[in-house]
Amino acid sequence: MAYDFDLYVIGAGSGGVRSARFAAGFGAKVAVAESRYLGGTCVNVGCVPKKLLVYGAHFAEDFEQSAGFGWSLGEADFDWATLIANKDREINRLNGIYRNLLVNSGVTLHEGHARLIDPHQVEINGQRYTAKHILIATGGWPQIPDIPGREHAISSNEAFFLKELPKRILVVGGGYIAVEFAGIFHGLGADTKLLYRGELFLRGFDGAVRKHLQEELTKRGLDLQFNADIERIEKQADGSLKVTLKDGRELATDCVFYATGRRPMLDNLGLENTGVKLDKRGFIEVDEQYQSAEPSILAIGDVIGRVQLTPVALAEGMAVARRLFKPEQYRPVDYNMIPTAVFSLPNIGTVGLTEEQAREAGHKVQIFESRFRPMKLTLTECQERTLMKLVVDANTDKVLGCHMVGPDAGEIVQGLAIALKAGATKRDFDETIGVHPTAAEEFVTMRTPVAG
Ligand code: FAD
Ligand code: NDP
Repeated sequence: MAYDFDLYVIGAGSGGVRSARFAAGFGAKVAVAESRYLGGTCVNVGCVPKKLLVYGAHFAEDFEQSAGFGWSLGEADFDWATLIANKDREINRLNGIYRNLLVNSGVTLHEGHARLIDPHQVEINGQRYTAKHILIATGGWPQIPDIPGREHAISSNEAFFLKELPKRILVVGGGYIAVEFAGIFHGLGADTKLLYRGELFLRGFDGAVRKHLQEELTKRGLDLQFNADIERIEKQADGSLKVTLKDGRELATDCVFYATGRRPMLDNLGLENTGVKLDKRGFIEVDEQYQSAEPSILAIGDVIGRVQLTPVALAEGMAVARRLFKPEQYRPVDYNMIPTAVFSLPNIGTVGLTEEQAREAGHKVQIFESRFRPMKLTLTECQERTLMKLVVDANTDKVLGCHMVGPDAGEIVQGLAIALKAGATKRDFDETIGVHPTAAEEFVTMRTPVAG
């Protein structure tokens, strides 16, 4: 049968764009549908605008610390509207770049909501198109628990477009988004509380990292409330919000921001017209080559719920394009040693196993740790400390994990990830000459284990 397209991609986000462009580059006839914004979550309401806001928030401490270096500044004043307008302008520019990238690589762009009609057919804007392969790359959507007053809460989608910086904000959750946005709002001057339902936030990260970040954020005056969960939110006559916690406490705030995870975006996608199956958590179930239970339909990125990170969606998109149209170049995505950063202030950077995971996996471990005051702060009043930690297999000497909390941790961990992926041993680290004076050199100068 002759199809309209070799590949029809639903969703022009990180994974979809990558797959569409490379498939077209390999000679396939490709279309991509996008209902909302080119570049998807990462470009519009994720990584990119988030990082711009983090940069914005960071100035607060730069101004404060500059006094130690002889600078005297007038009263600093921050204007949220300017930051948001400039951020929007940059995002518009990136949307244009994504449009050009797609069009210049020969991909047909359909702007509208796409719906599956059958395993080889998609409907969009009243038109139907057939395709040999269909790729679902529709990403995710914030998930807010169903509590009374939920309609008064916002998610990350709205946070990027608030008209004003709230005077008081309550951020709910203990994952990446909650920790990053609590840092943004606190840095920009809002009275910020972070509420997390468990004992300690950032479940799954190394224990020392979680504890260290807790201490650093507390030093900075961020109000961390653990073992705290909201029962209901009520709007008051003056427009403020009354938040009642499950333990009976009441908090007054101007904004409640939920960052409690993301669900797959499957709304009105027409999956019922196909044999696509969902896993127990509701994400699209795929095999190791991203094929769903319906042989003509594949899925990648956040919608399969493996690792919800842009570089992972990109790698999966690339793997699908190669598998379908350049099989001789196909390589499976390696999910080991995925480096990641939390852009809290200070940053977390991490790659490989945590101490807890290494012990649980049966490794006999050696732990190396360094805690120090960054050199830049020695002329300032700031008491912030950096943490660096190596988890080493005592039998093989292989470095199993590197963890850092401190300035530029995200930048530093990228290089370490290459070393770990290449199988570096602690001896390789020890024999590597440091770059002086940097914080990063500490990773090659830790000599005495703190725990075995
Ligand atoms: P998406 O990028 O979400 O793209 C899906 C696209 O599909 C969207 O554009 C959507 O409009 C479109 N779509 C959905 N349904 C349809 C339909 N039926 N028809 C047509 N189009 C449709 N990751 C990092 O690596 N680093 C970070 O710093 C980082 N920060 C983040 C900050 C926030 C606040 C958030 C929310 C996420 C962040 N992420 C970060 C995660 C990252 O954004 C996602 O992992 C990544 O965008 C997933 O890519 P994707 O292609 O699977 O989906
Ligand atoms: P996460 O899954 O990282 O964290 C969700 C948090 O919400 C957890 O602390 C969880 O607690 C808590 N939670 C879940 N359900 C409830 C509930 N019903 N009531 C109270 N708390 C709840 O999700 P995020 O929304 O922070 O981010 C989504 C994903 O986006 C991340 O996992 C990450 O993959 C990606 N991302 C990456 C970034 C980066 O690379 N820098 C930045 C931002 C997002 P518990 O631990 O107890 O389950």
